[in-house]
Amino acid sequence: MAKRDYYEVLGVSRSASADEIKKAYRRLAMKYHPDRNKDDADAETRFKEVKEAYEVLSDTDKRATYDQFGHEGLKGAGMGGGRGGFGAEGFSDIFGDVFGDIFGGGRRGGSQVFRGADLGYQLKLDLEKAVSGDNVTIEVPTQVTCDTCGGSGARKGSEPVTCNTCGGAGQVRMQQGFFSIQQTCPACKGAGTVIADPCEACHGRGRIQKTKTLSVKVPAGIDDGDRIRLSGEGEAGRNGGPPGDLYVEIRVRPHKLFSRDGADLSCEVPISFTTAALGGSVELPTLDGHVSLKIPPGTQSGKLFRLRGKGVATVRDPRKGDLFAQVAVETPVNLTSQQKELLQQLDESLAGGGDRHNPRADGWLDSVKRFFEGIGQ
Ligand SMILES: [Zn+2]
Ligand SMILES: [Zn+2]
Repeated sequence: MAKRDYYEVLGVSRSASADEIKKAYRRLAMKYHPDRNKDDADAETRFKEVKEAYEVLSDTDKRATYDQFGHEGLKGAGMGGGRGGFGAEGFSDIFGDVFGDIFGGGRRGGSQVFRGADLGYQLKLDLEKAVSGDNVTIEVPTQVTCDTCGGSGARKGSEPVTCNTCGGAGQVRMQQGFFSIQQTCPACKGAGTVIADPCEACHGRGRIQKTKTLSVKVPAGIDDGDRIRLSGEGEAGRNGGPPGDLYVEIRVRPHKLFSRDGADLSCEVPISFTTAALGGSVELPTLDGHVSLKIPPGTQSGKLFRLRGKGVATVRDPRKGDLFAQVAVETPVNLTSQQKELLQQLDESLAGGGDRHNPRADGWLDSVKRFFEGIGQ
């Protein structure tokens, strides 16, 4: 099932404020709440969807990642089918989190630390580099811990103070009709502490935007769609949390000669119709030099030759695959009148031998004949 856009799920614009997002979430969470929609699977799905959208859009970092990379960017961050994916979460967990007190779930106390968001990066490579491996330098815009305050967000010499709104618990209880909802404290965003005297460099956020230059070691044999994880190279965490990871996704550019399928390569080999008829040899490029391909006399267009061990190794298997070369017989063009004359003579000469010289036409004419006989009955 394709995932819906999180903004669409909450029915808010992409520029919606944190407050608008929260309001939309509360309204929808009440509407689809399973207690009001007993045995309604659709409402249950919507409820989960709304909660997932809110979890991302209410978190400044996750929202930024989502805005930049979409659902893909959050993969591996515990969202959308990644590690600890939402789908596997039981219903009681959702209750415990959002409607903790009513349904008897445990209260989450104490301040929270936040793991930094995972980042995604697309690295485009030529086939040759993907096969041979490479060292690539990439530049990734990310959030790093502020040097000036060491990530606390407080001005040098001052300390974050306990949040007055939640008393340091990081959670507050809100009355919504007959529901009492426990939620992340809006004043401290769950941290339990607030910055009274913010750091000048990061304005109290503890992190600053920076473009990181990273060296990526691309292993030989990597393929389109493979991902390289750079542990801890995602965004810095908050409130002492660990950093996220950076996922470098490999995109291999289409090659002029070869297409790749795992360890096998394939290519097309145009040959003249004289070579096809009389036989000969053609020089065939491979990723490591030329090889000579023997064309037997009477080779038909479309014939596939397999060159064992002339494919590529993959990251999982060092044994090289095969190269499949498919022959395409060229029909001569731009003929002079003399050449046309010669072909005409050749054709007349071949006609004397009947279908003996045209193995395909022979079988084909038989099939055509049988086909029409079948219709005639
Ligand atoms: Zn700072
Ligand atoms: Zn608070």
